[in-house]
Amino acid sequence: MQTILESQSLVGTGLQELMREMLARLGEDPERDGLRDTPERMGRSMQYLTKGYQENPEEILLGAMFDVAYDEMVIVKDIEMFSLCEHHLLPFFGKVHVAYIPRGKVIGLSKVPPESRRCRSSFRIASLNSSKPHKEAWH
Ligand SMILES: [Zn+2]
Repeated sequence: MQTILESQSLVGTGLQELMREMLARLGEDPERDGLRDTPERMGRSMQYLTKGYQENPEEILLGAMFDVAYDEMVIVKDIEMFSLCEHHLLPFFGKVHVAYIPRGKVIGLSKVPPESRRCRSSFRIASLNSSKPHKEAWH
């Protein structure tokens, strides 16, 4: 069950309105020409960047598995990935390399989305590959 935490003043507030409020609190005028459609664009982009919450990773992986008759190591290199850091919602990206022993099954990684599209710890992902987490002074 998904838990949604909302203060009473935000009940029923849409993502677009929240983005508009964020711009205003940051000191911007959400009504000025250049920003007029920005809250809607921000809402759509955040929904896109986090659409992994609406997907079932197990279902995606099971749909991308194929039977094979060999058991030699499979190496897939330079898989593009991006995600959002769970601490600041800042994007980070890079390439990952995967190596595994198939045991009768391989994963068609071309059928797996190139990123999780969920907020992740950049340090946890960095420990799984050779790229470094995004540089920032906030951690
Ligand atoms: Zn961060």
